[in-house]
Amino acid sequence: MPNFFNEYECPRCDTTWEQEADSMCDDKCPNCNLAVQAHASEEIEEVEDEQA
Ligand SMILES: [Zn+2]
Repeated sequence: MPNFFNEYECPRCDTTWEQEADSMCDDKCPNCNLAVQAHASEEIEEVEDEQA
């Protein structure tokens, strides 16, 4: 289950993007296909739990 929100910034073409994953993992730039490490990562909290 994906519970991380990773942010990426390509050093080659300056494209930025985000992706949800189950860990802080590398991704490929959607523009130039360079492998990029996540520079920031946030844990996503489940919001199904609605307690009054
Ligand atoms: Zn790129």
